[in-house]
Amino acid sequence: MMHIAGNTDTLTAQQRELIALAATLGAEKFAPRAASHDRDATFPFDNYDDLRRAGLLAICVPKAYGGQGADFATYVMVAAEIGRHCGSTALSYNMHVCSCLWSGLIADALDMTPEQRADHEKNRAIHYANIVERGQIYSQPFSEGGAAAAGKAPWGTLARRVDGGYVVSGRKIFASLSGAADYYGVLCTIDVPGATLRDSLYLAVPATAEGVSVVGDWDPLGMRGTVSRTLLLKDVFVPGTARLMPEGLYFQAAARFPHMFATLSPTYMGLAQAAYDFTVAYLRAEVPGMPKVLRRMYPTKQIAVAQMRIQLEQTRALFLQNARDARVDPDKDTRMRLYAAHYTIMENAQAMAALAIRTCGGQSMLKSLPLERLYRDSRCGSLMLPWTAELCVDRLGRECLYEAGERDEAIE
Ligand SMILES: Cc1cc2nc3c(=O)[nH]c(=O)nc-3n(C[C@H](O)[C@H](O)[C@H](O)COP(=O)(O)OP(=O)(O)OC[C@H]3O[C@@H](n4cnc5c(N)ncnc54)[C@H](O)[C@@H]3O)c2cc1C
Repeated sequence: MMHIAGNTDTLTAQQRELIALAATLGAEKFAPRAASHDRDATFPFDNYDDLRRAGLLAICVPKAYGGQGADFATYVMVAAEIGRHCGSTALSYNMHVCSCLWSGLIADALDMTPEQRADHEKNRAIHYANIVERGQIYSQPFSEGGAAAAGKAPWGTLARRVDGGYVVSGRKIFASLSGAADYYGVLCTIDVPGATLRDSLYLAVPATAEGVSVVGDWDPLGMRGTVSRTLLLKDVFVPGTARLMPEGLYFQAAARFPHMFATLSPTYMGLAQAAYDFTVAYLRAEVPGMPKVLRRMYPTKQIAVAQMRIQLEQTRALFLQNARDARVDPDKDTRMRLYAAHYTIMENAQAMAALAIRTCGGQSMLKSLPLERLYRDSRCGSLMLPWTAELCVDRLGRECLYEAGERDEAIE
């Protein structure tokens, strides 16, 4: 079976080991369960039990705190391998892992005062212990249905400073892992007069805290196993130790470490790989349970599968480039390559799933086979804020044509 990283020569021992672990879990456990979670729109608790047992919930918890200490590149390859077998599991897993990445290697790369750093170490030790020792799950609801999730306005969810912590109120839509997470990693605005984007706060809100509720139904086109219902927070008290980042640090992270948002696309790299894998198996009459009807000898099929392979390799090349590029303060070209890569992965996954269905034909879109699920799941990628396909193009176009600080004179 083709390796998700293409060529394994340059992988570290840890990368090889963790990707192999994800491949085994994915093929043996997640893929066979994917159809029923998709059909019933149920959260894959069983897959999370496997991830927990395998130590993969702690993949990006720093080693000093008992985790695997995986870096950005390692994580995104593991996530892509999981996405190859179950898109919903990979996408919600990303929300969990981001709580560790953002508070971990990303926070470590940013500026803090010594007092903030000490406070952050104390707080994150609590959350990492929840994950490493108790196997708890964190999610990451930041979307609110307004301009905040696109990074254009302060969060509408407000955290009022009170003795010993904060009182949080707000509403988050598309809260993946709703009803499944032990903690919701909520992005909010500190409730001070004239608050701006800089007054951001990232808080771990316990699912059991008074004032937390999950409402609304969940019956979407794709990624049904993410169970992304609406989260309501009504005067929820959380202690100061709920800070997953010091006050204001999320704003600095978003400005200086843009790859923090690029962890959504590995899931779709996995879906692109899965669409290709399925098409090859189908044309070679190797799909289990299907009649042994070969279709590989038709030139049209060969051309289509060649096109898919080209798209797959283009996607993978950018995906791996992204993985290598992640760093604090990337230069402008790196940032632009990141938008282009993110856009390409999201859009190519959908294009490849569509081409796979056209190539394999009518039987391939039956619900007894995974391709129609890949088609629906892959449709969701370019809708993910803050970097939807539209917003990637928007940012890229502007940055291609303008240097920092440039403005146009009004044209008469
Ligand atoms: C399966 C799935 C799981 C998800 N899980 C999570 C999760 O766990 N946590 C989370 O926070 N979110 C999650 N989301 C939400 C996702 O990131 C988006 O926030 C959501 O899809 C936005 O939907 P909307 O219709 O409200 O977008 P809108 O804000 O209405 O935007 C619609 C489109 O308009 C464009 N647009 C938006 N704002 C601007 C702007 N200021 N300027 C120019 N163009 C703009 C964008 O291209 C966007 O796609 C999930 C979404 C899906 C589909």
